[in-house]
Amino acid sequence: MLTIIPQILIGAIDLVAAFLFMFGLQRMSSPVTAPSGIKVAGIGMLVAVVASFLYAFGVDTAAKPFLTVNLALAAVALVIGGGVAWWVGRKVAMTAMPQMVAIYNGMGGGAAGAIAAVELFGAKYHGTVQLVVTLLGALIGAISLSGSLIAWAKLDGVLKQPFRMRGQQGLNSVFILACLGVGGYIVYAAQAGASPLIDMPHLIYLFFGLALIFGVLMTLPIGGADMPVVISIYNAFTGLAVGLEGFVLQNPALMIAGMVVGAAGLLLTLLMAKAMNRSVSNVLFTNFGEIVKHKHGDVKGALKPVEASDAGIFMRYAKEVIIVPGYGLAVAQGQQKLYELVKLLQAAGVTVKFAIHPVAGRMPGQMDVLLAEAGVPYDMIFQLEDINDEFANADVALVIGANDVVNPAARTDKSSPIFGMPILNADKAKQVYVVKRGQGKGYAGIVNALFYADNCNMVYGDAAAVLTKMIEAVRGLGSKAAA
Ligand code: NDP
Repeated sequence: MLTIIPQILIGAIDLVAAFLFMFGLQRMSSPVTAPSGIKVAGIGMLVAVVASFLYAFGVDTAAKPFLTVNLALAAVALVIGGGVAWWVGRKVAMTAMPQMVAIYNGMGGGAAGAIAAVELFGAKYHGTVQLVVTLLGALIGAISLSGSLIAWAKLDGVLKQPFRMRGQQGLNSVFILACLGVGGYIVYAAQAGASPLIDMPHLIYLFFGLALIFGVLMTLPIGGADMPVVISIYNAFTGLAVGLEGFVLQNPALMIAGMVVGAAGLLLTLLMAKAMNRSVSNVLFTNFGEIVKHKHGDVKGALKPVEASDAGIFMRYAKEVIIVPGYGLAVAQGQQKLYELVKLLQAAGVTVKFAIHPVAGRMPGQMDVLLAEAGVPYDMIFQLEDINDEFANADVALVIGANDVVNPAARTDKSSPIFGMPILNADKAKQVYVVKRGQGKGYAGIVNALFYADNCNMVYGDAAAVLTKMIEAVRGLGSKAAA
């Protein structure tokens, strides 16, 4: 039986975990190395969990972050939590990934909040700094928990419309100020030395309640196309909350993992905000409570359907085709078929490129991962700023399962929820084909004038089925295709 584990050994194991987190994260920067990056970070997490368990064995009391560790309970929680995550992770559909990420992110925030609750209800006062950090972690963790749950409901379609009302901004301010006020009072009372925290459980409940309600209120009104920024913000919040609670527990692995996630989330937030051409404060505060009256507009022109085979043959004789993939491609799981078509076109001498919008799909980077999964070489994939000027020279823009990211309303319609967002200039191509199943709108729920434009034809059907027909048509050209 282990009796004494030197603190230095646990520290060294934590350092290994931290290195694995960062190395894994670095590999996640490219879709090609991302799958192995996720595995490396997962091993890092395993190492960190083992190190945390070692705390239970006889490190000297001063260095021990917990006074009591219920090993059996921790093991049961690990088995249940790990088992459920493993089972759900194996079953989840690719298109339900964003919801899953949102809910797991919320759980991270909730876990940080729970650590804070244990500390607060534990009635131990270790000084003002520790208490303030605990409360800060509790606040951010609780907001992240309830906000992420609302984000999950929006991504899952459980909540279909953003909920807005007059005076929402004022109401939000009341809740956050009240929460900060209660937190301030807890610090003041504890500092006065009068009562241990156990004497004010009602205040701690109130503090958590206000923070949770604020998370809900903060997220409910956000809709349209602003969800990517929200998801990234909660990602940053969870990391920050975990890092703060790591400080409270003096657990280096938690501190480092939390700060890495927090910093990554913050960078992602800034990137997503840039992609939407909005400042973070604009997403968070300006639109809050505003009743956006969006007119579904005076779209001119008509929808002009064509057969998939005709579109396929047209592309076969084009010089350059730019493909804009969107959420619908992920729904149809048509990425393999798409790459099959691309290879046929390339064999016939057509230059093919992929244009990726930073908020395409339902998760940052979803399209890059989808294409990497199908084996599309990375040098065929271009980000918005690198390809947007090229649409004007392209013979065909093939918009497949995408909608909001090519909606010209973003350029011109001030009442549109996506106004100001840079879009892919698919409408500038000589010919545009849009593949979608019917009249369904994009995530922002708005009409797309591109579909009615003179140079645009609709190819109706599920993306995978349409691609199969296109492949057959191009193959059917036989020897001519090789010409
Ligand atoms: P959109 O959600 O705007 O449009 C997707 C289109 O795909 C729909 O119009 C739908 O039309 C079509 N579609 C759905 N299923 C299929 C199918 N099986 N086959 C063919 N077509 C299909 O997607 P975009 O990628 O253009 O835009 C992403 C949107 O999601 C943006 O508004 C973005 O802000 C938002 N968002 C992005 C997040 C991110 O991090 N990337 C997170 C949360 C939201 P139809 O039903 O007629 O087939």
